[in-house]
Amino acid sequence: MSVQSPSLSPESRALIERGARYWLPVYRPRELVLDHGKGARVWDRDGRDYVDFGAGIAVNALGHCDPDLVAALTAQAHKLWHASNVFYTEPPLRLAEELVGASGFAERVFLCNSGAEANEAAIKLVRKWAAAQGRAPERRVIVTCHGSFHGRTLATVTATAQPKYQAGYEPLPGGFRHVAFNDIDALAAAFAPGDVAAVMLEPVQGEGGVLPAAAGFLKRVRELCDAHDALLVLDEIQCGMGRTGTLFAHVQDGVVPDIVTLAKALGCGFPIGAMLAGPKVAEVMQFGAHGTTFGGNPMGAAVARVALRKLSSPQVLDNVERQARALRDGLATIHAELGVFAEVRGRGLMLGAVLADEHKGKAGAILDHAAAQGLLVLQAGPDVLRFVPPLTITDADVAEGLRRLHAALIRFIAAR
Ligand SMILES: *Cc1c(COP(=O)(O)O)cnc(C)c1O
Repeated sequence: MSVQSPSLSPESRALIERGARYWLPVYRPRELVLDHGKGARVWDRDGRDYVDFGAGIAVNALGHCDPDLVAALTAQAHKLWHASNVFYTEPPLRLAEELVGASGFAERVFLCNSGAEANEAAIKLVRKWAAAQGRAPERRVIVTCHGSFHGRTLATVTATAQPKYQAGYEPLPGGFRHVAFNDIDALAAAFAPGDVAAVMLEPVQGEGGVLPAAAGFLKRVRELCDAHDALLVLDEIQCGMGRTGTLFAHVQDGVVPDIVTLAKALGCGFPIGAMLAGPKVAEVMQFGAHGTTFGGNPMGAAVARVALRKLSSPQVLDNVERQARALRDGLATIHAELGVFAEVRGRGLMLGAVLADEHKGKAGAILDHAAAQGLLVLQAGPDVLRFVPPLTITDADVAEGLRRLHAALIRFIAAR
């Protein structure tokens, strides 16, 4: 990386070199070794502190080491770690009921370990539903949107309509069609062959650049799905669990989906995913039709129950609104002085600052400067800074994070 953390000790450097030597080189992490965290602050093993505007990748929605999550995890860890799905345990039974209750549309839940797995289950459920209706395989097409991100398994990477994630993995599974996001005419055209079984999309695209569905778009999508007897699958893996200011993002769009997938903040850092199935599809997959070894394990479910309760609370959701305003105001102030952004967009605490033309492609360089100033922030592609802090972040941490961002941008501009 071009900007090195000034405090990287020889021991930390040696650790990082292990990554370079032994990991499959699919990642390029920033050059710092995180050690522990509290709330929206993280410390590296060399003692530097960071304000965390990334929360992993929109995962640590309750910040680091939330005491209630730690208590739930440790209590369960002392009782039972794993039992598999050939026996009942209490946490996933209760979590499923609570997710159904919180969703307002779902009747049943499939618990798994990650976002890709939740979407994989959704894709399989769509296909199984279409098959049960007697539709031939070629009439089970799933339409997804350019700029989407649905995961890294072969099926979900095919759903992900971004060539950079697919290159070299061909042959890809068939039965997907890609259209422009927020383009209802393109979607209507995609239905024309009469072979569409579902539309799958993110209410706010995350990896694709923090791009929300336009006002009214999801309603129109729902209408098209209904008119063509197709399912609406919403990937709320990043935008769900309170991040946009409501527990589920789609509530703000006034639509009722058939399937919703969750992961990232569902376990607030403990790996767990879920697929929520509405009345049209809840009974489609029967005994033996799908499964997982680890999914719904008691530790993940115990943590997710607490996460669900806390992330649905008015205190947290009010804080999302409050800090979203503070973050937007702060970014506007920075922009007024430095002129770095073309636009700030998003919903709630899922914000994207699109870089001005002269800084296009430089998000990674800015992130290096931010880390050097003690700020962890993400990019969403080369042109967008992504702000997805813990939903419990305080006024003081937002203010300090913005101060550090300002310092980082000044150094970035000076270094150009
Ligand atoms: C992160 C993400 C996924 C994939 O989740 P994994 O847990 O990495 O498999 C899928 N969809 C969206 C919208 C995501 O942000």
